[in-house]
Amino acid sequence: MLSPTKVKVEPGKLFINGQFVDAQAGGTFDTINPATATVLTQVAEGREADIDMAVKAARAAFDSGPWTRKMSASDRARILWKVGDLLLAHTEELGELETLDSGKPVTECTKIDVPLAADCFHYYAGWATKIHGETIPVRGPFFNYTLREPVGVCGQITPWNFPILMAVWKLAPALACGNTIVLKPASYTPLTALRLAALCKEAGLPDGVLNVVPGAGSVAGMALVRHPMVDKIAVTGSTPVGQQIMREAAGTLKKVSLELGGKSPNIVLADADLDAAARGAMTGIFYNKGEICTAGSRLLVEQSVHDALLEKLVERAGKTVPADPLDPKCRFGPQVAEAQMNTILRYIGKGKEEGARLVTGGNRAKVGDGKGFFLEPTIFDGVTNDMTIAREEIFGPVLSVIPFSDMEDAIAKANDTIYGLSSGIWTRDIKKAHRLARELRAGTVWINTYNVFDNASPFGGYKMSGFGRELGAASIELYTQTKSVWVDLS
Ligand code: NDP
Repeated sequence: MLSPTKVKVEPGKLFINGQFVDAQAGGTFDTINPATATVLTQVAEGREADIDMAVKAARAAFDSGPWTRKMSASDRARILWKVGDLLLAHTEELGELETLDSGKPVTECTKIDVPLAADCFHYYAGWATKIHGETIPVRGPFFNYTLREPVGVCGQITPWNFPILMAVWKLAPALACGNTIVLKPASYTPLTALRLAALCKEAGLPDGVLNVVPGAGSVAGMALVRHPMVDKIAVTGSTPVGQQIMREAAGTLKKVSLELGGKSPNIVLADADLDAAARGAMTGIFYNKGEICTAGSRLLVEQSVHDALLEKLVERAGKTVPADPLDPKCRFGPQVAEAQMNTILRYIGKGKEEGARLVTGGNRAKVGDGKGFFLEPTIFDGVTNDMTIAREEIFGPVLSVIPFSDMEDAIAKANDTIYGLSSGIWTRDIKKAHRLARELRAGTVWINTYNVFDNASPFGGYKMSGFGRELGAASIELYTQTKSVWVDLS
């Protein structure tokens, strides 16, 4: 028996044109509590017809302009600010709901994810009044200026690992720029996005501006990607799904931005503060039970400090105990779903098969009645970059320790991956730190820290980790387009 919760979990409906409605075909799917393997509730299952209805509502809202042409930017900003305030006012409720649906530790949801989501709305509320074009000194008797306009109807597809935060990273900037939206949340974790839609309505967002349609990625997601009235698609998910979406989006030439997978190197040089590096390695791989795209899943360690660091890692991993995610002391909850847990166990098996040395963990863990999808934090040593566990994104709490001999070896190994999302460097040598920061082919480099985010700092991938930057001013680029206006002055 795990902790009780105060949250009343309601069945989920589709949110279309400001109303919660059933799916047209009447279908539903179960959403499961991964800590107990029990059904939390049923959620309406959107299909092509529902996506069509949601897109038409978003199109009508965009074209008739209640959110853009008929509302001033400062009024838009006020509504976005209010959404941020409502998120803060509902932190406990949203945090517990997120924990029930995803297995994320409740303290992380209430102290990190929901406050960051609120801050994201506050941050982009500030942007709404600061999006404008330029005047350009052109040749001849002309006045030339640019208008910075919203892209139109945005299809946004989000993953299950940070459900509310990933939705907000996409919604807040898109709304600040004056777009309208159809959001398709991940099927494992649709509940907080639906609750967020209700809070947006309460804050005064006009009907049709935000629509939320849960449903299978291959059906509802694909219908959104293919819909001719959608102008842009933004996705956070796996690289294969990103590739498929990009191919399909070509049919209607939509603008596309993709935040995809990673296999990030976290590099420890011999001169590093090893206690800090060990702490950072733990945060790098075990935060959010390894279900994080920036996971520092390849720990590259300079040979001379390998044994000392490994000892510290094993000791810390031993203290990272899988626990009931509703317990405020929990820092390591269950994997999101049985299928995800089994995928991770298969990778652990592959690591052993290919000759990596399992130094700790490797098994399913028993919490409560043992039915939840808990795993032990797992560390492999003696990993080489050609092993499957060093090449493929596991998206779970599995660390691969890979020794290196010198800086050149570290750079070569770090960049020897198809991915380029993030990276970490641990050193006291400022020259080495900055040199490495330039050499690493990744969208984020953390020096003597790991997994730090801020709504003002751009985030996104190099190589097959995707393209387009979210957060900061970069998101304004993603959600606006530029119109050039010429006036004859002769
Ligand atoms: P998926 O790529 O399977 O799914 C992501 C989203 O895409 C879900 O909403 C999913 O719907 C939807 N989807 C799946 N197939 C299609 C399709 N054919 N057309 C349209 N939409 C589709 O990833 P996961 O949800 O499994 O999330 C984990 C993955 O996401 C990891 O690889 C991770 O690295 C990556 N990720 C990247 C992040 C980043 O910022 N770069 C952040 C978080 C995760 P459904 O749920 O119904 O399948």
